[in-house]
Amino acid sequence: MIVMKFGGTSVESAEAIERVAKIVASRRDESPLVVVSAMAKVTDQLVAMGQLAASGEADASLQLFRSMRERHFLTANALLGSKRAASLAPKLDPHFAELENFLRGLAAVRELTPRGSDYLLSFGELLSSLIVADAFAIRGLNAAWVDSRSCLVTDATHTRALPQMTETREKSKKKIAPLLSKKKIPVMGGFIAATSAGVPTTLGRGGSDYSAAIIGAALDADRIEIWTDVEGMMTTDPRLCPEAKTIKQISFNEAAELAYFGAKVLHPATLLPAIHKNIPVYVLNSRNLKSTGTEITAHAPRSRDVFRAITAKTGVSIVNVVASRGIMVHGFLRSVFETMDRHSTSVDIVAISEVSMSFTMESKRLRKALLSELGEIADVTCDDKQAIVCLVGEDIHGKPGIAASVFNTIAAAEVNIRMISQGASELNISFVIQESDVPKAVQHLHAQFFSSSENTISRQTKNGSAKRARENGRGSSTPRVRSASASAVVVSSADLIS
Ligand code: ADP
Ligand code: ASP
Ligand code: MG
Repeated sequence: MIVMKFGGTSVESAEAIERVAKIVASRRDESPLVVVSAMAKVTDQLVAMGQLAASGEADASLQLFRSMRERHFLTANALLGSKRAASLAPKLDPHFAELENFLRGLAAVRELTPRGSDYLLSFGELLSSLIVADAFAIRGLNAAWVDSRSCLVTDATHTRALPQMTETREKSKKKIAPLLSKKKIPVMGGFIAATSAGVPTTLGRGGSDYSAAIIGAALDADRIEIWTDVEGMMTTDPRLCPEAKTIKQISFNEAAELAYFGAKVLHPATLLPAIHKNIPVYVLNSRNLKSTGTEITAHAPRSRDVFRAITAKTGVSIVNVVASRGIMVHGFLRSVFETMDRHSTSVDIVAISEVSMSFTMESKRLRKALLSELGEIADVTCDDKQAIVCLVGEDIHGKPGIAASVFNTIAAAEVNIRMISQGASELNISFVIQESDVPKAVQHLHAQFFSSSENTISRQTKNGSAKRARENGRGSSTPRVRSASASAVVVSSADLIS
């Protein structure tokens, strides 16, 4: 069987869902299971509705709710015709009623907890998957809607829950495998799951990719396809740099590094389940039915360019922690790390000296409580609106002069570098700059390192290369654990999970 995941833009309208049905029909002989995101922008709107309701603005929240409901019914009408859409309405209405009640309750209580937020955001994928399943059914695809909350089991870390694979495998085998053996096409919402007690959870923003990989691993899929709005994984975000090129083949390790350091095209944890089961992943363009996209496998042919791709992760803060004068240096770092541990701080880049430490983390995860506790043992300053630029490629550290060439390019772009990390990871060179400098820096780097067209290595036959990669990779596809160097450490949650 194969898993096919379609993102928000791929199901944003009746026309887009129509294309999805055609793509799925073209794979019907391979026992597809379909995972869909909420329609484009719906999750953002649910977040906005929640914020408005929780701040007491019930009318504005309900207005947004009504326009979102209307968009879903209009799409269903356009896809199904008014008669069939009317027969779908009894399946959609209870969800809209629940959502409306929740928003009214929220406006009264004025507090949106992480658990409440997961419940709120779950409606986007529930609604889109119901509409897509029905659209498939009337186009001759033998679709069966599956409630993701009944087979994808996570812990209770609301807003970024972690899958419990044993339970997920058991439930998926029980609920989904019989459908597949009856030649049905299961259709389910991505991103949403539930604890073993049945409380709704989500896998973090952009998490539908992760759902697809989790279900793929649970059911031993032959292939996982991530259908999106670009031609595959590219040498950089095409929105930042229109010259970006599609990467035909890339290794699990490199792709995971790219996803972790900001390539939004894949949720950072997506590849972990695929790596564990050695399942090839493809990133494909749902606007192009003939898309060949990017193939991600345990081993990919070396890129002839120095780097495989450039990413930029914005919304980052730098926190500088300097031992206050008079404070014993001995034990300083231990106290800082203990404080970070108490606050479950997840950092990206760390630079350490005997009496100071700087680290970066996502600004939205930086809590005042952490800063004030650190302030009790050190002088703390914080810079927001920073970005991590990361150049990824295998074996880059064996080649002399690469760092110099990267930093000369950045100097030529007149961009100031705040922190550097080279040496801890075998796969990347990363550095921190101001968010506003990202387009300039990425465009200069792309022109310098990807000006030839050689990075896009021609692709071997899809099945042949995937099969070979799986055979070669079996047992040796564990992601590398990075070692710490004396001056800089790169820790990514991708490593920590793996
Ligand atoms: P979906 O809704 O299908 O999940 P996303 O918006 O989450 O799609 O991801 C696709 C977007 O990722 C693209 O439109 C592109 O702007 C962005 N992106 C960032 N980095 C890359 C990259 N290296 N390759 C391809 N796309 C990238
Ligand atoms: N709908 C969710 C989000 O927007 C999950 C996803 O699209 O992958 O974050
Ligand atoms: Mg996405």
